[in-house]
Amino acid sequence: MALLYKADPQRGERWRQLFAAHAPDIEFRQWPDIGNPAEIEYLAAWQAPDDLATLLPNLKALLAISAGVDQLNLSALPPHLPVARMLDPGITQGMCEYATWAVLSLHRDMLRYRAQQQAGAWEARALVPASQRRVGVMGMGQQGKAIVKCLQGLGFALSGWARSAHQLTGVECFAGPAQLPAFLGQCDILICLLPLTEQTRGILDLSLFEQLPRGAALINMGRGAHLNEADLLTALASGQLSGAVLDVLGVEPAPADHPFWQHPGIMLTPHIAAMTQPDSAFAVLLDNIRRHQRGEPLNGQIDRADGY
Ligand code: NDP
Repeated sequence: MALLYKADPQRGERWRQLFAAHAPDIEFRQWPDIGNPAEIEYLAAWQAPDDLATLLPNLKALLAISAGVDQLNLSALPPHLPVARMLDPGITQGMCEYATWAVLSLHRDMLRYRAQQQAGAWEARALVPASQRRVGVMGMGQQGKAIVKCLQGLGFALSGWARSAHQLTGVECFAGPAQLPAFLGQCDILICLLPLTEQTRGILDLSLFEQLPRGAALINMGRGAHLNEADLLTALASGQLSGAVLDVLGVEPAPADHPFWQHPGIMLTPHIAAMTQPDSAFAVLLDNIRRHQRGEPLNGQIDRADGY
């Protein structure tokens, strides 16, 4: 029995070592060296080939090596094939670190202090206590809930929005499109942690920004296609938004002439909020293979119809 790995080749070498050391019954193969395709039962991948059904006739499960699955063409996959996303604690740790840094940067006006430093201006601004800074998280899943917990420790006033109703101590929870305006109306800092689906594509647009309190700030850690980039520029220019921290963009890497590079109100990072860590992800992936072998449901199995 074999597993085919189709993702970052350098990290693949580490995956190979981990399989050899801890799961020698599973033969690790790295794309494009697939060997006899009939022997491959599991695919661990970032992106899957479109002709999967004919290429790997005995494939039993697709195990994404990322938390999001929007890069997969789900409609092209064989309908019976279970698809699981990666629930790597290393990813969640990275997301918590990034969100904490981004929220603190916006909360403590670091975009402006950076500009002041460059201008040689020593000018203190009023300090808002964390308890008076309302931080709202869109997406209360694996990442959103962990981030809310981290931010609770810093004393922020927290709320969350998801498709379904959630209950978290000390967090005001909103659900569904009907409660979106009430959620947005009380977010000084809005963090997008949604999966990219047909329902969430382009959700961060001018009409959403206009429902935030004037001067609110945005953090996008979801996917670039959540954001209407022209609308962000409009909202920053009018002062409706005061700043944005973006880890993801519509086109990555951003072209050299992209207006966000030099924008004083935008802090841009190259999709580094979190990265799958083979050492922590391996245990999760192997556990899922063993679960499947025992006939148990996969952890992180996505609902193909919902797209996440
Ligand atoms: P989960 O699937 O665990 O959580 C998704 C959350 O979004 C759920 O709370 C879900 O609601 C909510 N949601 C989905 N669709 C809608 C909708 N239409 N309206 C309102 N809420 C919705 O995902 P994760 O938390 O693990 O990850 C979220 C995303 O973060 C990933 O899909 C990926 O795009 C991004 N990500 C980015 C990384 C980076 O490095 N920048 C790294 C890791 C992830 P409900 O609870 O009701 O189902």
